[in-house]
Amino acid sequence: MTVRTIGIIGGGQLGRMLAMAAARLNFRTIILEPQADCPAAQVASGQIVASYDDPKALAELANACDVVTYEFENVPVSAAETLTKSVPVYPPAKALEAAQDRLVEKRFINGCGIPTARFHSVDSQAELEAALKDFGGQGVLKTCRMGYDGKGQKVFRSEADSPAGAYEALGSVPLILESFIPFEREISIIAARATDGTVACFDPAENVHRNGILHTSTVPASISEATAKAARAAAETILSSLGYVGVIGIEFFVLADGSLIANEMAPRVHNSGHWTEAACVISQFEQHIRAVSGLPLGNADRHSDCVMQNLIGDDILDLPDWLKRRDTLVHLYGKTESRPGRKMGHVTTLTAKPQVSA
Ligand code: AMP
Repeated sequence: MTVRTIGIIGGGQLGRMLAMAAARLNFRTIILEPQADCPAAQVASGQIVASYDDPKALAELANACDVVTYEFENVPVSAAETLTKSVPVYPPAKALEAAQDRLVEKRFINGCGIPTARFHSVDSQAELEAALKDFGGQGVLKTCRMGYDGKGQKVFRSEADSPAGAYEALGSVPLILESFIPFEREISIIAARATDGTVACFDPAENVHRNGILHTSTVPASISEATAKAARAAAETILSSLGYVGVIGIEFFVLADGSLIANEMAPRVHNSGHWTEAACVISQFEQHIRAVSGLPLGNADRHSDCVMQNLIGDDILDLPDWLKRRDTLVHLYGKTESRPGRKMGHVTTLTAKPQVSA
């Protein structure tokens, strides 16, 4: 296939950065997003203003594009399947299905031989109480679907935390109770698989969350080479078992002995991979565009150590200071209104001298 135009479902900052990377490789991009003048459309070749499952809009997108990808994992699976009948959709719909529901996701990851937290499915208050009892009163209760940035979650730290009313408080929807993982740190790995099955992994990043939202990603992570190798191996297994094409982000908890527990995966470019645009020759965004358009993957080596920090809500007020720094790449998302919890941009500060392998 010769790709000229790439369709991107979703118009947020991830779509924006994908469109920018695509433009550098001479691809045109068309964004499908209900919000007009969204961050992605501001830098893309065109936008179809419609909902993600609008049949007319999907037909228009398929007609205008040589390949379609997406920037968020809650694209309706039915929309991806409809598109697949007339245009390649990468990553495949199967990856969306595996990532949209935490129960399905955990079963899939365990099926790959990769450990996750123990879990119970919870469909009533009585099931919640029984599940909590099994985990000694500790656990993390999450909605199975549509949770992000710590939304739709409740943590039970001890038997003193009463579960009364918790099922209803989370919306009386299907829930999962995960055992509480006493992790030492959290890491993620961003990996890519090309149409020919080649895999390239960026170095694992160490992530710190604040109020459930990613605050910083630091690279290198403070982990052993054995732990980094295990993260790469897990990514390779997950990618190949999904017949994946594109970039994936996989989050892990690291235990005191260095072993890994997979938390979740995102079948898309990921916030904890934004550092790659400043500290690697090829960013996660270019890597994804290369993969979905059938180009060879780029070099994922890191040439600098770095710290990426999200600018969330009023953090944007620090922009003048960030702009004065000579070691920092500033990236803004084209959002005019700042609100608490809203990602306005990010900054990546290089913390070590460059080193690039040819
Ligand atoms: P998630 O939405 O699954 O990424 O969870 C948001 C954050 O909550 C994670 O980054 C962890 O800091 C924490 N968390 C989630 N699940 C667990 C767990 N099973 N045990 C301990 N902490 C957790």
